Amino acid sequence: MMIVMNETVTEEEVEAPYRLASAQITRGERSVLDVDGRKVGGDSFTLIAGPCAVESREQTLATARVVRDAGASFMRGGAYKPRTSPYAFQGLGQEGLRLLAEAKSETGLPIVTELMDTRDLDDVLEVADVVQIGARNMQNYTMLAEIGRSGRTALLKRGLSSTLDELLMAAEYILSEGNPNVILCERGIRTFETAYRFTLDLMAVPVLKERSHLPVIVDPSHAAGRRDLVLPLSMAAAAVGADGIIVEVHPNPDEAICDGPQSLRADDFAQYARAVEDAAALAGKALAVREAARA
Ligand code: PEP
Ligand code: MN
Repeated sequence: MMIVMNETVTEEEVEAPYRLASAQITRGERSVLDVDGRKVGGDSFTLIAGPCAVESREQTLATARVVRDAGASFMRGGAYKPRTSPYAFQGLGQEGLRLLAEAKSETGLPIVTELMDTRDLDDVLEVADVVQIGARNMQNYTMLAEIGRSGRTALLKRGLSSTLDELLMAAEYILSEGNPNVILCERGIRTFETAYRFTLDLMAVPVLKERSHLPVIVDPSHAAGRRDLVLPLSMAAAAVGADGIIVEVHPNPDEAICDGPQSLRADDFAQYARAVEDAAALAGKALAVREAARA
């Protein structure tokens, strides 16, 4: 994707404070990213699936096969985990990255994994086709600038209590370093409601797409915190025009070290993926890999 300045709109003339992220700079034209030959945005629906955390070789490879067979476009999995408690499992670190590399070489799925500390950037760039910036790091401006300089595609999650303009300003930190490859992600925000983990702000999708040319995806897993809400929220996300979904899947969620209650069962994933594919089709989008397979 190239951000093309044209005669009618210059960077200085864009009214929004987020100049490069604004819809104005591309005169309303949507950005379509190309990640390892897979389109993100436009008429593609990007299904990113995998465990919350990389826990073991068996768990990682089993999940990778299931999500690949069901038509996912990317595999997700955290090697570095942001945990509320310092005593909780923090991820396998470099060993986790190694397992993700193995999953990638076996299945061909590009990898989405989170960067928690810029000191790990080189290691993460060895395996990540898309570097996730978690909700808690959305305003880690030095980290955003580093990812900007790396040029690697970034999946930028909305902060727990961040406005859409703050999310777009965070994206601007990456774009302004010359990296146009940014995917925005709504993952639920903090509200007064405590009946579920976070409040999924689905209005963010059409409004972000009105304000910005960047692709917008939704994370129903972290918003809900409950497996049973993941499918309906995924269908709703497709209906409001999301460019994709990032979802947690585990071969045995009851034994998961992290986020088991919200993880889809691997055995149910193919059925879930079909329902999402149908919902995306109603919104005029096709799963990225299926599209590639047809071409
Ligand atoms: C995750 O995707 O595993 C994660 C921790 O997400 P978030 O940053 O949205 O909480
Ligand atoms: Mn998780």
